[in-house]
Formats: sequence, C-alpha cells, structure tokens
Amino acid sequence: MDTKKLIKFVRNIFNTNDFVPLHAPVFAGNEKEYTRNTIESTFVSSVGGYVDDFEQKLKEFTRSKMVVSVMNGTAAISTALYLSDVKRDDYVITQSMTFVATCNAIYHLGAKPILLDVSKKSMGLCPIALENYLAENAKSVDGRCMHKKTNKPIKAVIPMHTFGHPVEMDEIIRICEDWNLFLIEDAAESFGSFYKGKHTGTLGKFGTLSFNGNKIITTGGGGALLCSSKELGKSAKHITTTAKIKHPTDFFHDEPGFNYRMPNINAALGCAQLESINIFLEKKRELANLYRDFFSNSDFRFFEEPIYAKSNYWLNTIICPDEKTKENLLSETNKSGVMTRPVWTLMNKLPMYSDSLTGDLSQCEFFEKHIVNIPSSVNLQL
Ligand SMILES: *Cc1c(COP(=O)(O)O)cnc(C)c1O
Repeated sequence: MDTKKLIKFVRNIFNTNDFVPLHAPVFAGNEKEYTRNTIESTFVSSVGGYVDDFEQKLKEFTRSKMVVSVMNGTAAISTALYLSDVKRDDYVITQSMTFVATCNAIYHLGAKPILLDVSKKSMGLCPIALENYLAENAKSVDGRCMHKKTNKPIKAVIPMHTFGHPVEMDEIIRICEDWNLFLIEDAAESFGSFYKGKHTGTLGKFGTLSFNGNKIITTGGGGALLCSSKELGKSAKHITTTAKIKHPTDFFHDEPGFNYRMPNINAALGCAQLESINIFLEKKRELANLYRDFFSNSDFRFFEEPIYAKSNYWLNTIICPDEKTKENLLSETNKSGVMTRPVWTLMNKLPMYSDSLTGDLSQCEFFEKHIVNIPSSVNLQL
C-alpha cells in the first residue's frame, strides 16, 4: 500500500485539506449552554449541581456501584492506589506498554512498578505473563503477596485497556484472587468499551477514567473513579475532597486529604458530552469499519477488537510489516498534515523507570516497533 493512498483516504473521510488531528473533541450538543450556566450562576468551582449530575449519569452508563469524579485521570489512579493501601516501597504490577501516567501514579506514592508484557489479543496486560511472573517471583506469606527477592509486598495489579481494547479480564481477576492482589483497571482510554457485556473499569476494586481533551469524551481535564462498592465510593469522595467532615459552618478534616475534586464547570461540559456518548460510539465503530476494509488487502494489519469485547475504538491502530515501513509512514503522513503517532516509548526505557523489575517484554517490543495510530476523531458525517 502506498502512503499517498492512505493520506487521500483519511482526507476524504474527514472531508478536509487542512490538518487532520489524531483525536479532536466534538462539541455538538449542550456544551455551551451548560458551561454558560455555571458562569452565569457563578458556580464554576467546588459548588454546583453538575458534579453530582455527572457522577450519577456516569454511574448509570457504566453500571458502577458509585462514581467519584476528579480533576484528571492520573489523580483517579493515585486515589485508587491510595485506597488500596499502596505505600512506600510496595510494588504494583502493570504493563510496560502504557501511557506514563499509570507509572507516575505508582511512583508518587513511593511505590514501584513491576513492568510486564502485553497480550497479542488486546495490547493490554497479558494474563499469562502475570501468572508466570508471580509463580516465579512471588510467595504468599500469611495471605500477603510478597516479592521473593526483595521481601516487599506486591499490593495491586493495574491492567490498562490499550487504545480502548479490553484486556482478558476473567483470567486477570482469577490471578488477582489467587494472590490476594487488588485489581485496579486503568480504563482511561476505554470509556464506552465493554468486556463480556460489562463496562471496563467495573470489574476490579476500582476503575479509573480520564476525560482529557483527547479522550472519547472530555471535560477539558478530568477523570473519575468507578468504585466497586458504595463504601469505597464514600472513601474516595472523602479523600479527594480534603477529607472534610460535613458541617454547616466548621472546618474539620480527619485525615490528610487530596484536593482532587472536579470543578463544576468541567462537570457541566461532561454532562453535555455524555449525552452524545452513544452517537460517538456508533461513529467510531463506523470509522473503524472503514479503516478495516481499507487495510484488508494490504501488508498492514488493522487491529480489531478482541472477540470477547466490544471496544470503543478510541484510537485506531495499524500494525506495520516492519520498523522501516512504520518510520516512513509516520514521517510521510505527518509531513503532509495527517497526524499519526507511534505507541509510547516502553516504560522500562524511560530514565526514571529503567531500573524497574520487569518480566519478558517481547510482545511490548514487537508492538513498539510496529504500531502506528491513525486519525480517530468522532466524525458525525459518517
Ligand atoms: C489519558 C490517560 C491517563 C490519564 O491521563 P490524565 O491526562 O491525567 O487525565 C491515564 N492512563 C492512560 C493509559 C491514559 O491514556
């Protein structure tokens, strides 16, 4: 396939000769009205009804037990780890192929990531890699999972649903139960994706979402915790809002809290975006279908949702035949104003995480050499 054909195809889909971004937000509903309401009422910040509304609507859509909105996806991961008793010198297992936020949230609690391989099927944490790593490197002491060599606890596992494709959760749930590990899903990229009919982020103790500007729906900046019980939800609300005890006049805080709350003006934007989520999901699926057909008789493989899942197709992904083809494709498309991107540099190759414990990372290495993400914005014309 020649790159010019792809550029033409993308320009034709998005009906433009201008710059085509990787993922731009779409505001076609009540966004202006709701955000204007917050300004006109002066309630743009920590008071106002949109936060409760947004949380309620997220809860209904994801069928989560309780949802707590926060200021970004990273804060959501930090809070989930904090409420899973992750402390200094603990280990948390995640995949080496992820956005840096997953590891940063672990790091800033003083804990350390253990970086494992991803699955061919999902591009997310590989259950076999997890099972093998624990079998070789962990022991169970009084029901606690300990790292054999360092004798430090392994507390939690964070699978990340890469580009919206759900990981093989049944297997990961079972392994976490076997080893008594907390399961936190980084569902930042997979809002609207379903694993065997259940919304991603609702299968573990916590699921975390991001509503950054490049995600499927946006609040400007924002995130949320999907909590597996009302009690956890209440704890999450408390700790993310300065741990203040409710009182009509007095300020009393019963632990060192975070100020991670989502401002009302952002929640207003979120309420409007959420009204469009089903249309967005439909249009993204249509775009994915077009790309799949386009690449079907080429030497590029279009990455399809795993058979057990319904993906939101947040970022469409192609697997290039080799590294040189990938580099050429990236440079030619970007030069001509069609934005494409490689996958993130693997976490074990970043300076601050390069001395992390790792497992075999051959699938991560393969994807790093072969993945290109192509323009994936919601296109209402489709
Ligand atoms: C976007 C994203 C986050 C959270 O990002 P914020 O910018 O903090 O909202 C976390 N993990 C992954 C994998 C992401 O893609």
